[in-house]
Formats: sequence, C-alpha cells, structure tokens
Amino acid sequence: MRDKVKFCEICGNVAEQSTCSICRDPRRDAGVICVVEEAKDVVAIERTREFRGLYHVLGGAISPIDGIGPDELRIRQLMQRLADGTVTEVIIATDPNLEGEATATYLSRLLTTLEIRVTRLASGLPVGGDLEYADEVTLGRAFEGRRVVG
Ligand SMILES: [Zn+2]
Repeated sequence: MRDKVKFCEICGNVAEQSTCSICRDPRRDAGVICVVEEAKDVVAIERTREFRGLYHVLGGAISPIDGIGPDELRIRQLMQRLADGTVTEVIIATDPNLEGEATATYLSRLLTTLEIRVTRLASGLPVGGDLEYADEVTLGRAFEGRRVVG
C-alpha cells in the first residue's frame, strides 16, 4: 500500500482531499489566519482548542544559512489569501527560535502594508524550541496573550 501525502491547496496543511478538513469546516472563523511553519504546528495548536480560525502553513522558516528565503516559503499564497479583505487578523505563530523570529519579522513588515491586524504569540514559549513541543496550557496562554506587532 502506498500512502501519498497530499497538501491542502488553500493552506498547505496535510489533507486527504484537495483541501484539508479545517479549510472545509464552515464553523471555522474565516476572518482569522494563524501562520505556522509546519503542518505539525497545526496539530499542536488544535490541541489547545484556543483557536477557531484558519491556518496557513509556510513550509518552513527563513534561514539564510540553509538557503531558505521568503520565495521558498508559501508567503505569496498567503498574500493571495489576504487580498479579498475577508481576513481581519493574522496571527504569526512561527517557532520561538532564530529562524522563526526572522520569519515573523519579515511577515510583520510585509503585512503592515495591508489593513490587517497582525499579532504574534505572547512570550512564555520555550525559547529556541519548537512550537509543537510546547504543552497545551503554555501554547493556549500564548494565544490568549498575543500582541499586536508592526
Ligand atoms: Zn487547508
């Protein structure tokens, strides 16, 4: 048996169909997008049950040493999703490490050109770690205490 991993054509999350179950769920708040690095971060955030919006998976983080710049990430697709004015808030939930911070800074600068509230998860997450390893309570608090950037 071959298992082919598919990715949601809207958000980049892993999907069984052309779109993922979160993007297809009409109860999710289409006005808020949470930007994460990897699909496993979506799983971590879903576990907290703090977030009812949609996601956007970048596919990594900006890392000049590894030759990963903004063009290697799904940033263009994010900007396309924001173009129609439905989204009023973007929550940047990249990892609390060097690459994640660089990506958050890049995104917040890019997004200030739009009329969108841009927030970043509150500190308190283990610095240098991966978002997916944060426990539910810590991650949930980081969501509640998110702050406006840019
Ligand atoms: Zn999706």
